Amino acid sequence: MDASTRRPSLLIVDDTPENLNVLKRILSAEDYEVRPLSSGELAIRAAQAEAPDLILLDIMMPGLDGYAVCVRLKADARTRDIPVIFISALSDAEDKVRAFAAGGVDYVSKPFQVDEVLARVATHLRLNALQRTLREQNARLREAAALFDVSGEGIILTDAQGVIRRVNPAFTRITGYTPEEAIGQTPRLLKSGHHPPEFYAHFWNTLLKEGYWEGEVWNRYKDGSIHPQWDMITAIRADDGEISGYVAQFSNVARRHQLSEQEIRQRGNYDALTGLVNRSLLLERLTLALKVHRRKGRLLGLFCIGLDRFKQVNESLGYTCGDAVLREVGARLLARVRDIDTVARIGGDEFVLMLVDQTDPGAAEQLARRVLACLFEPFVLEQGRVEIGASIGIGLFPEDGDDTDTLLRNANIALSRAKEHGGRQSRFFTESMGRELIERHHLEADLRQALERQQLSLHYQPIVDLHHGRIEGLECLLRWQHPERGAISPATFIPIAESAGLIQEIGAWVIETACRQLAEWQRQGWTLYASVNVSTSQIPHAVRPQWLLSLTQGLGLMPERLVLEITESLFASQTEIVTQWLHEVRAAGFRVYLDDFGTGYSSFLYLKTFPLDAVKIDRLFVRDMVEQERDRGLIRAIVAMCDELGLEVVAEGIEHEAQRRLLRELACGYGQGYLFSRPLPAPAVASLLGRLANRV
Ligand code: C2E
Ligand code: MG
Ligand code: MG
Repeated sequence: MDASTRRPSLLIVDDTPENLNVLKRILSAEDYEVRPLSSGELAIRAAQAEAPDLILLDIMMPGLDGYAVCVRLKADARTRDIPVIFISALSDAEDKVRAFAAGGVDYVSKPFQVDEVLARVATHLRLNALQRTLREQNARLREAAALFDVSGEGIILTDAQGVIRRVNPAFTRITGYTPEEAIGQTPRLLKSGHHPPEFYAHFWNTLLKEGYWEGEVWNRYKDGSIHPQWDMITAIRADDGEISGYVAQFSNVARRHQLSEQEIRQRGNYDALTGLVNRSLLLERLTLALKVHRRKGRLLGLFCIGLDRFKQVNESLGYTCGDAVLREVGARLLARVRDIDTVARIGGDEFVLMLVDQTDPGAAEQLARRVLACLFEPFVLEQGRVEIGASIGIGLFPEDGDDTDTLLRNANIALSRAKEHGGRQSRFFTESMGRELIERHHLEADLRQALERQQLSLHYQPIVDLHHGRIEGLECLLRWQHPERGAISPATFIPIAESAGLIQEIGAWVIETACRQLAEWQRQGWTLYASVNVSTSQIPHAVRPQWLLSLTQGLGLMPERLVLEITESLFASQTEIVTQWLHEVRAAGFRVYLDDFGTGYSSFLYLKTFPLDAVKIDRLFVRDMVEQERDRGLIRAIVAMCDELGLEVVAEGIEHEAQRRLLRELACGYGQGYLFSRPLPAPAVASLLGRLANRV
């Protein structure tokens, strides 16, 4: 039985039967297992045989007295740790001193108080149990320390910040650094400069997420030499689950595998994960190949390949899975090219094919098609099947670039364009892409100043109750009046603001301006809500519920007067963060609409999974609904589904009476579109409201 659940066993030793009886009665009543004994000799034998948890020992006894018994118990390893409490009628200070000197832990005077005896017994049992735990832990610590010292592998212990606290002798033997030199430093002491920053980002991500990382690391030792090591790093967690430190174990791979100097140098040219050529060797080969092709007047193709949904695989299935996919992608690419071509991995999910001696662009296009097809095939992993897509940007030498930098950059521009057009496709670089890029740079520079130069404004488009015709709310739509180019559509500049990192600032301005305007209309007596578009990259940091609350409260607006329009791209990653944000925002009283429903990866599952208030059906479906039964069917299904889930439905882009009538028949509650009003500047909205007599 476990020591913590078994009843504590006590020996009581006294030559007077009445004393024994009294003690036995009161202790048995407390659920102790009590063994009464009448002499010191018997007590010693029983203690050796039974190892009781505590002994109550009378001092004055014929034969061996209590002191002598205790001295013998303490001299014997088997009984040394059993606590002894003396009981005696002698009560002067000298007796007590003798009792403690003999090894007793406590002293009770006769005639004794029942409560006192029980309290002292209980206290010493508890203390002894604690001591036993400490002794066991000490033994374990000594074992661990011995392992640490004799291990043939280098071991580093760090605190949670990564500062080295201890290293073992093998660490010093392998790296040349003494404990004095290493302690207080971080493992960067050994950094060789061999790995790109993504390597460390990936490493920390895995370690923080999975608590463990293992892999090859190239380290620089004290004498300046660089060696591949196999590192195994484990996070140490405290009782509260927080990471309290790390333990890193490593052995020298070169020594284990007997790598030659040349092999070590070669490894510097290849990607450790996939075994493919890395960026530096690719550039070297490309420089050389361009020279040869220039001399011979030959064509060279450069494919930049990006995986379409790799980030999601990493985030949802973990980095081990992500690594397996990358290795498999490498293998598939190698199988599609000739021996004279080069397959390189130059970034997280970026691969490059260098195709020498090409005959014509048509052949390159065919190969691109085959490469895409092989990457669309599902990847079969331990965790199940994964499908990812890929995009390819193609640059051809000599027309798309005469040097390595230009050629690589242009192939990359073509890749970005392929991705922007939905991915799963290949694109050749074209002159116009270069021009678009320059144009985009100009627009981005202008957009950076648009806010302070007051070129941005909001227009408002009514959202109408389709059954009563009442204006319920206003969607706030951003407008940019460019000083030279005139009005620029948000469809053009919002993506630029997003990629340039400007959307957080612009988005905050939109929300503030919308709320101020709404407060102004509220003062004039109109009860409406403002619906603002929020980009995925604003969430969660740029739209914190706390900030929204202080903004609306400051203006005297109820939270339900503010609606945030989000799009499905939000659900593609970071599911937990997004769900938490949605819950917090809605708990604070704000409402959330799902915009452009039906255009992206729309899934009815999203409607069930994420807490929302309404869905806005994209105008593509409304546009053709009168003629197309399919679109009507879809709208009918969305309305039914939303009804089931308690969500409102807003139809966008209503331009004709026939559409409004049909939508009403399909039980769609709300609508928006040119039929009711175009987006208007604020003053025009006031007169529209006046005309429609929307006053409450
Ligand atoms: P959205 O949120 O779906 O906005 C509706 C778009 O449909 C608006 O285009 C609106 O002018 C247009 N529209 C409304 N009724 C009709 C109609 O009957 N027929 C037609 N053909 N179009 C109609 P707009 O203003 O050009 O905005 C385009 C998109 O830009 C918006 O689509 C939204 O995604 C984005 N956007 C606008 N303002 C902001 C903003 O402040 N922040 C963010 N992140 N995105 C914004
Ligand atoms: Mg919208
Ligand atoms: Mg929309």
